[in-house]
Amino acid sequence: MTTSAMPLLAMALRVEHDIFVVRQRGREVAAAVGLEHQDQVRIATALSEVARDLLRAVGGADVTFAVTADADDGRQHLRIDLAPVGPLPGGRYEPQSGAVARLVDRLDMVVGKGDTVVRMSRRVPVTAQALTPERLAELRAALGESAPGSALDELTAQNQQLIAALDEVRSQRDELAVLNEELAETNRGVMALYNQLTEELEETNRGVVALYGELDEKSAQLRAASESKSRFLANVSHELRAPVTAIIGLGRLLADSSSDPLTAEQARQVGLIRSSAADLLALVNELLDLAKAESGRIEPDWTEVDLRPVFGQLRGTLRALATRPEVELVVEEPPAPAVLRTDEVLLAQVLRNLLHNGLKFTERGEVRLRAERRGDRWQLTVSDTGPGIPAELHERIFEEFYQVPGKTRVGGTGLGLPYARRLVTLLGGTLDLASEPGRGSTFTVSLPVDGA
Ligand code: ADP
Repeated sequence: MTTSAMPLLAMALRVEHDIFVVRQRGREVAAAVGLEHQDQVRIATALSEVARDLLRAVGGADVTFAVTADADDGRQHLRIDLAPVGPLPGGRYEPQSGAVARLVDRLDMVVGKGDTVVRMSRRVPVTAQALTPERLAELRAALGESAPGSALDELTAQNQQLIAALDEVRSQRDELAVLNEELAETNRGVMALYNQLTEELEETNRGVVALYGELDEKSAQLRAASESKSRFLANVSHELRAPVTAIIGLGRLLADSSSDPLTAEQARQVGLIRSSAADLLALVNELLDLAKAESGRIEPDWTEVDLRPVFGQLRGTLRALATRPEVELVVEEPPAPAVLRTDEVLLAQVLRNLLHNGLKFTERGEVRLRAERRGDRWQLTVSDTGPGIPAELHERIFEEFYQVPGKTRVGGTGLGLPYARRLVTLLGGTLDLASEPGRGSTFTVSLPVDGA
């Protein structure tokens, strides 16, 4: 909605020459209200086009220049009304040149009380001096005084405007060319960088692929070495078992009361042979077990196992080993229901091994086995009040033949824990240790309820 039009200038358009005057006055008014140079030219051009159209169509128009305040955007507009002197053909106005409408903000036909006007308007920039009623009065007076020039003057002015516009176009074209050049330069830089990055990436990729190849090769070698070690252990221990068993048998025969009596010294020596042979057989058996576990030849027999009878059996069999009166063996009753899917024989073997170690290394206090359900796992802990193990050896004791040096060396082979861990891994679980010297040890077997 447009309100409060403040007229600046009015003039009549009747003959060809008036077109120049209208054009010239249009530019003057546009300049007076503060439109920029290019907008002045646009207004003047649009005005002369519409003026020519109306002169040809109806023989002229009354032209009014005014400033309006637009209620919609709160800004001032220069408004030019051209009221035709006769009725427009078909009651409509359409500019001959379609480009005219683009020169101004609005170009409409406005039908008022009985009269019809062609109206164009252009917004006054905010940077322009404020058009107060006083200022408008000044402008009105100034425009009234300035006499319009001749058609030649207007032509000269028009030419100058054309030259200025051409200059501007040329300088814009030059700027564009410079910009294009800069853009092309940047593009070249980006492409070079991209190519360099691509090359570096390919180089890195080649390196990674080669590394992987090497890694695969090394893994295969490692696997082969581990397999031949297991095979060797299995073969050697198997081959040793028969002669060692024979030695034990022969020793028993020699010591038998039905054989020829031995001297005391002979009996002592035969006793030594027998106990050494028994140690050797134990070692050979453990080696064979470990080799079997490592070569993957142990197939767990998966069944639903109730921990309570397993614990009961361990309680019974290990009591015989708990010979020190200062050490108590405590096998707690597992909380019911204590069922999990596992291999009962292998699990019992692991727990027996851990309990046996506890009883072997603990001089006073207790060795305790307990079971606890944690989410979808069972945690079976064997804890003792023995000497404990320094943190830096927690992983080493799971290596084959490793035994903690010092007074805890009380026989054994150093194969029990690596074997136990192998078995627990086969059962889909983990075997870990928490221990400190002087504070005992706790071995934890964690097994999934549903098996591996
Ligand atoms: P072994 O008991 O036949 O020597 P293991 O593999 O079972 O072999 O144990 C390796 C070593 O770990 C043992 O020699 C011992 O030094 C240490 N160890 C194992 N269990 C305990 C324990 N409960 N308390 C203290 N030391 C232990």
